[in-house]
Amino acid sequence: MKTIDNYNFKGKRAVVRVDFNVPLDAQYNITDDTRITAATPTIKKILNDGGSVILMSHLGRPKEGPEEKFSLKHIVPHLSKLLNTPVSFAPDCIGAEAKSMAKALKPGEVLLLENLRFYKQETAGTESFAHELASLGDVFVNDAFGTAHRAHASTTIIAKFFPNDKVFGYVMANEIANINKVLNKSEKPFTAIMGGAKVSGKILIIDKLLDKIDNLIIGGGMAYTFIKAQGGKVGSSLVEEDKLDIALKIIKDAKAKGVNIFIPVDTVAASAFSNDANKQTVDINAIPDGFMGLDIGPESEKIFAEVIYNSKTILWNGPMGVFEMDNFEHGTKAIAEAIVVATKKGAYSLIGGGDSVAAINKYNLVNDVSYVSTGGGALLEYIESGNLPGVQAIEE
Ligand code: AMP
Repeated sequence: MKTIDNYNFKGKRAVVRVDFNVPLDAQYNITDDTRITAATPTIKKILNDGGSVILMSHLGRPKEGPEEKFSLKHIVPHLSKLLNTPVSFAPDCIGAEAKSMAKALKPGEVLLLENLRFYKQETAGTESFAHELASLGDVFVNDAFGTAHRAHASTTIIAKFFPNDKVFGYVMANEIANINKVLNKSEKPFTAIMGGAKVSGKILIIDKLLDKIDNLIIGGGMAYTFIKAQGGKVGSSLVEEDKLDIALKIIKDAKAKGVNIFIPVDTVAASAFSNDANKQTVDINAIPDGFMGLDIGPESEKIFAEVIYNSKTILWNGPMGVFEMDNFEHGTKAIAEAIVVATKKGAYSLIGGGDSVAAINKYNLVNDVSYVSTGGGALLEYIESGNLPGVQAIEE
């Protein structure tokens, strides 16, 4: 892998694509700096080599040109503190000023560019815009895994202007190594746990995984589509009527490929989509009218946990229920804890996709699993297609 460990940055200006898309409160304070701290080892390595760093990122989803609330200038004080060095700021990511500021950088100095998405050419992947960004430095470092599934100017197109000087930063290298470990070097039994709201967003990934896994556990909102497809009574649970056929096909394909498929047998059903709703634990095939399944039940927890305990590789994407509500978090928490137990017993566990990561964070278990991926969409797309535009651009 072409990582920054194989590159000496002495005397070089490195253009580094980072993911500083962090949440800000109304006073522009950073409420979660995980993504910034994740990128600091990459930045420090370049500075320690005697190079200088030009950081570029997007922040939020600006619609048309610059917007105060999406300015990366809000990040500067905290970044400077984390790096323990001053950070200068270019109020436009391209143009004469950015160019002269980049050119003036001395070894050990850091420049942050304004939000790339103030230009629509960024997401359009416009080559001339990518060329302008490329002209700021001598080497390109991609350390933004969360956007590696997009062929944007700064994530993918820019790489072509550095045919011999493009490398992965530590965040990227780590993500790629961990995903490859699961997909290509997995120890068996390999169990995938899929949850979350809908089956529609997960069909492609389940399809891909069926060739690699031994067990497929289905939970969350998508389980009710499987139950209804098999003739169960799901009350007013979340169901995708147009995906009933696909649910049956997944069950059939799993059987044909020798994959054990585990669908919940009981559910915690609620009278409304609310934490304060009346609730009862029922057979998942016989949910009373007017009730909706919002969590897996205790029997399902037990069955799923047993499968997890006996796994050597575990991939978890998506909660088992509406874990944001305390009364319907039990199943998700139980699965997270089962993964922790399996990990302690020697299994390799990768957690990825926004909401299972949020769950792992909620239960403070980040350090008790093998790896938590930072890129939700990017991770899923990597598994689905076997590559990502931003990864390919560095590798080729
Ligand atoms: P996803 O982004 O597809 O992984 O979906 C995550 C969301 O699915 C979370 O916000 C959960 O609250 C929601 N979810 C999980 N289980 C259910 C369920 N049984 N009914 C409705 N929503 C659910």
